[in-house]
Amino acid sequence: MGSGRVRVRFAPSPTGIFHVGGARSALFNWLVARRAGGDFVLRVEDTDASRNRPEWTDGIISALDWLGISPGGYEGPVLQSSRADRHRAAAERLHAEGLAYYCDCTREALAERTGNAQRGYDGFCRDRGLAPGPGRALRFRTPDDGVTIVEDLIRGTPEFPNETIEDFVVARADGSAVFLLANVVDDLEMGITHVIRGEEHLSNTPKQQLLWAALGADAPPVWAHVPVIVNEKRQKLSKRRDKVALESYRDEGYLPAAMKNYLMLLGWAPPGEDEIVPWETIESTFDLADVKPSPAFFDEKKLKAFNGEYIRRLSVAEFIEAVRPWLSAPAAPWEPAAFDADAFAALALLAQSRVSVLSEIVPMVDFLFLPEAPIDDAAWAKAMKGPAAELLADVHDLYDKIEWEAETLKAGLTEVGERHGLKLGKAQAPVRVAVTGRSVGLPLFESLEALGRETTLRRLAEARERLTGG
Ligand code: GLU
Repeated sequence: MGSGRVRVRFAPSPTGIFHVGGARSALFNWLVARRAGGDFVLRVEDTDASRNRPEWTDGIISALDWLGISPGGYEGPVLQSSRADRHRAAAERLHAEGLAYYCDCTREALAERTGNAQRGYDGFCRDRGLAPGPGRALRFRTPDDGVTIVEDLIRGTPEFPNETIEDFVVARADGSAVFLLANVVDDLEMGITHVIRGEEHLSNTPKQQLLWAALGADAPPVWAHVPVIVNEKRQKLSKRRDKVALESYRDEGYLPAAMKNYLMLLGWAPPGEDEIVPWETIESTFDLADVKPSPAFFDEKKLKAFNGEYIRRLSVAEFIEAVRPWLSAPAAPWEPAAFDADAFAALALLAQSRVSVLSEIVPMVDFLFLPEAPIDDAAWAKAMKGPAAELLADVHDLYDKIEWEAETLKAGLTEVGERHGLKLGKAQAPVRVAVTGRSVGLPLFESLEALGRETTLRRLAEARERLTGG
């Protein structure tokens, strides 16, 4: 501390989900620490005891881990609640030094005096010299004139006239510190040099900067407020409306590398034309000074396309490894013993070029491992028309005797289709539905080859029986 060593912190309030905006802040902080050879501190701001659960902290730690910010690589977690005494002590010091005063004004009394206008506190108790006591909050005495200038690496130097900053509450009547103070006390005592956080905290910053000075800091930290994240309607991302939980992306099968790369684009861009760049490039080029202050659009479609691109860039072996969790219990809908690694490997490359998120692998290959084809009723109704029953019977007869290899199976169906006046595309439909249960999927003949003759013939026969009633 004081040595010029960069120290940043990520200070989430646990809410039960890990917000993608938090993920971006964490990455920005992480990169600043990495680039400067400094420290990254995880501080969990868990002071709102009414909405807090220990497992939420575990969720934060595991989400960070997924992003490559792993325990052991940073300081903490420090639970803010464990520092409540320090916060209280700071509040008492502010009072003792005359920088804060007790106030017993009720909301109603204030509204009566100020005519209900949302003008903030009017300073009524400033010079009443109240002692601490029940119903008395502690307010910080803000300067009457002058201006507080916030130097922000992303937003320039916003100025806040001090007369517009009300005497704000720093501690509640029970002596506990509010967020504004606890957050500053922790940053100050932990030697934090850079506060990098969401734009929604910019309005807190002049108040917090005044607290830094009041608590004896030589200088405030370097501030950097990263841009708000909005949806396609330009509305701030909301937990109720938008898919904001990092966990849901993880569970759907987004690759952490894709997610990290995409999150970095929310306010920043790597040098050059390419948006998809290796993490090493990001680590060697990221600079807070290049972050744009304008709102950043979280484009789920683009993220998905990005992820598909990352999947395409894996080797087949890496792809097989990456989808493994979706192909095993408890995610997979088939019996674990039914999984056939060779059959899957035969189709892996074809699947790899078609999935955008890893969970899409399941409906693509489930026909291989489920005992019966998972028939989709709408697909069935559409495909099983006209000469479907006769066609299935003929295909069955032919497939019973020819070589079990994709090209031969294709040539065979082409020929059978022609006999029924159907082009290959049309002739495929009933076969595909009978065998895979669906109207879309991996290339049909490779699928049949992987499934094997016996099961294919059985499903063709069963479908025909279902169509003809026996
Ligand atoms: N706990 C605050 C939040 O999650 C963060 C405050 C900060 O980073 O200074 O919004």
